[in-house]
Amino acid sequence: MILVSACLLGNNVKYNGGNNYNQAVINFLKDKEYLPICPESAGGLTIPRLPSEIRGGTGAEVLAGNATVISKEGIPVTEAFLKGAKSLESLLKKYDVTMAILKENSPSCGVTAIYDGSFSKKKIPGMGVAAALLHAHGIPVYSEKNLPFICPKDKA
Ligand code: SF4
Repeated sequence: MILVSACLLGNNVKYNGGNNYNQAVINFLKDKEYLPICPESAGGLTIPRLPSEIRGGTGAEVLAGNATVISKEGIPVTEAFLKGAKSLESLLKKYDVTMAILKENSPSCGVTAIYDGSFSKKKIPGMGVAAALLHAHGIPVYSEKNLPFICPKDKA
């Protein structure tokens, strides 16, 4: 089973009520078993919602209690992000999850980079909270920019 960021599949779960539909991801998933996930929705955040960023570290530090997640208006949303990420553990118990394909740069789903908490579009290396949790459980985590074993023509 492959866990996939629901917004990449065209589900309108993004903070602004939109999605991040990605044809290459859809192509990759053809004939594969997958499950859409949205950690921020699972954590109880609304659609739409204010954008959030991790302040003081990356997803791994949030999981360790050493960094926080705040909305653009400065409201702490760390608990919702943790709840959403930890909701994935029940899926890991229920399914044989072989990998995850997650939306790059998101404070939940980012795989190689996230925004730095200044809401100024600056990025830092690191994973979002849910991606870090999956990684800590040994699940290979990819993004839409780094799909595994894919024909180059499908990357467009
Ligand atoms: S990036 Fe992750 S948390 Fe954000 S809308 Fe997409 S699936 Fe939900």
